[in-house]
Amino acid sequence: MAWCESCHQMVEDDEISDDGGCPSCGEPLEERRPVPWHFKFLLGATVIYLGWRTYQGIGWLIHHA
Ligand SMILES: [Zn+2]
Repeated sequence: MAWCESCHQMVEDDEISDDGGCPSCGEPLEERRPVPWHFKFLLGATVIYLGWRTYQGIGWLIHHA
């Protein structure tokens, strides 16, 4: 199920056209848009960075305890 901003109506999954657009107006439906790769990359980089900082923090605590 997706929402069409142009028609202001819900579109059932089996009514969405093959290219992910609205069957009435052809507008691309927001919910169907795939997540851009650079967003996934940024998310992964942030997780790795935070993991590294946590690892460093634990190491610091062990050496200064
Ligand atoms: Zn529409």
